[in-house]
Amino acid sequence: MKLARFQRDGVTRVGVVEGDEVVDLGRADATLPAEMNDLLAEGPAGLERVAAAVSAGGARLPLADVRLESPLRRPPKILAVGVNYATHAEEAKQAGVERPTVPMIFNKQSTSITGPGDPVHLPRVSKLLDYEGELGVVIGRRCRHVAKQDAASVVAGYTVVNDVTVRDWQFKSPTFTMGKSFDTHCPTGPWIVTPDELGDPHGLQLRTFVNGELRQDAKTDGLLFDCWEIIEHLSTAFTLEPGDLIATGTPAGVGVAMKPPAWLVAGDVVRVEIEGIGSIENRVIDEPDDTARIV
Ligand code: MG
Repeated sequence: MKLARFQRDGVTRVGVVEGDEVVDLGRADATLPAEMNDLLAEGPAGLERVAAAVSAGGARLPLADVRLESPLRRPPKILAVGVNYATHAEEAKQAGVERPTVPMIFNKQSTSITGPGDPVHLPRVSKLLDYEGELGVVIGRRCRHVAKQDAASVVAGYTVVNDVTVRDWQFKSPTFTMGKSFDTHCPTGPWIVTPDELGDPHGLQLRTFVNGELRQDAKTDGLLFDCWEIIEHLSTAFTLEPGDLIATGTPAGVGVAMKPPAWLVAGDVVRVEIEGIGSIENRVIDEPDDTARIV
């Protein structure tokens, strides 16, 4: 199944995408949770109820008539893995970052989430804006100390992530947090594909385009630490929860590694697509004047 969040008539709903239609789960079965994290927290039993609601055949809307939002409104955690493809490790080495011997983990703040077709802000404070196309893993079970051979059982599904990065802010301090967490810098979507539909997440073609030009082209079997090893590593330290998002790392071809570096500018369109999941496409705009606020 493809689990989505979408907006219609100003209201955000949870749905299942089938072909060119989306099933509005709130109308198909009003007893289902109205938020994705709550739905995922119901585990396999919840997904069985979703499947039953979908197979009833009603509450369908044309996909073209709705606006897709990020399938996760506010993940409890966004965890990301740095330098997790050998090809990208070669690029990173030139920037003085060594190939890691344990997964290099950092956070993106959950407020950086944005939708699969929403604009990405070129910050006022930097011009060094870059893209990183990545496979996203969405956690479906509350879990701790998960052995890698059991890790698949805690996954709710897979999505596409652009780990947008402000390169100068990434390296202003020893932690990456600031440069990885600007508002709008975690486009995610277009939906979550469940494991029964996707199969093995290792071996999917991942491609990133900027204005139609192919920049990244790799298979997810190139991950240095695969999805299961990442889950084992993370859950050694802390509890993973339904709706947590893990960005598994980016392959070669980021803008900073081009000669000369090719930074994103306003008007650029970045498209990340992963075989079996779908694509996200985000236009870069100058950070609007109205982002300063105290409410
Ligand atoms: Mg990344």
